[in-house]
Amino acid sequence: MKIKKIELFAVNLPLIQPFIISYATYPNIQSIIVKMTTECGLVGWGESVPDEHITGETPHSAYAMLKNTLAPLMIGQNPMEFEKIHELMDQSVHRAPAAKAAIDMACFDVTGKKLNVPVYQLLGGRYHEKFPVTHVLSIEEPEKMANEAEEKVKEGYTSFKMKVGRDVMGDVKRIRAVRERVGEDIAIRVDVNQGWGNSANTLQALRHLEKLGIDWLEQPVAQDDIDAMVEIKSKSTVPLMIDEGIRDMNNMREIIAKRAADKVNIKLMKCGGIYPAVKLATMAEMAGIECQIGSMVESSIGSAAGFHVAFSKKIIKSVELTGPVKFSKDIGDLKDSYIIPHIQLNERPGLGVSIDETVLTELTQYSDSIE
Ligand SMILES: [Mg+2]
Repeated sequence: MKIKKIELFAVNLPLIQPFIISYATYPNIQSIIVKMTTECGLVGWGESVPDEHITGETPHSAYAMLKNTLAPLMIGQNPMEFEKIHELMDQSVHRAPAAKAAIDMACFDVTGKKLNVPVYQLLGGRYHEKFPVTHVLSIEEPEKMANEAEEKVKEGYTSFKMKVGRDVMGDVKRIRAVRERVGEDIAIRVDVNQGWGNSANTLQALRHLEKLGIDWLEQPVAQDDIDAMVEIKSKSTVPLMIDEGIRDMNNMREIIAKRAADKVNIKLMKCGGIYPAVKLATMAEMAGIECQIGSMVESSIGSAAGFHVAFSKKIIKSVELTGPVKFSKDIGDLKDSYIIPHIQLNERPGLGVSIDETVLTELTQYSDSIE
């Protein structure tokens, strides 16, 4: 099987509500959809949602990288040769993980379709039957976050990811307000997105948070400050997760060597797709570090790719792939798999996503075809 054609679509995915985190507010999500066609006529889909704060790629730069470098490189290659595909991409371009992730996903999708198996079957088979869906609360005033959490508990949600990272004591009030409103039995995870900056601010917050029963605290300090995480971990009993600070195997090696985290949040956009994500999960498992699969808020395609990794690995204990329930319009049908409070995967071949090309055309800003 050989890759014959790669089409690129720069799309704008409309959010139901703006998404607010410590370093940015997103009114909608800019994404690049890859449609890979083989000589035998099979089609695989991939997606790139770069975040310049983390991967160093913008939607425009990732699009240009795909159009001018990665897509031409793939023409004539066998999409089933994942190891070789990644070697080719890595030899040609240093980093650019979100651009590479789109090619990686399309290769897995088309391979699954060729072999008539779901992608998770290519990764070791299905291990998890289902995962709880976590509702993400954007940063707002404490009362507003508590109100939204209360509404979502009524809808059946049993776990929340709270976005914080504005000011330490204000954030403590936000977390306390949600905890008091939802009660003790609901899971609360707190994501600071680097917003507390250093270990001193974080330890000040943790003095209050230790009583509020949170599942874990995610990326409180600057992404490259692994030593700050080591210090916080040694002085607190709250489990710590690294997100922005884990992007590739080098980061993971340092985190393991320094015992800098209890958990890591692996995202396909940070590491370059399904294949590198599996490698990171294996490294984490060797060190007894639990994993989560997260996302940059991706359409059905990117989210499904994350789910296939998550469902196939024992060491992956949670998922945060909420794109399909955050968009008012999506190009695929993964939303049907969110049966609140759980997500379940279908057994269709490849990524298992049906694409609505009418919606794709409607959301496309510009496109290119490489063959
Ligand atoms: Mg995070």
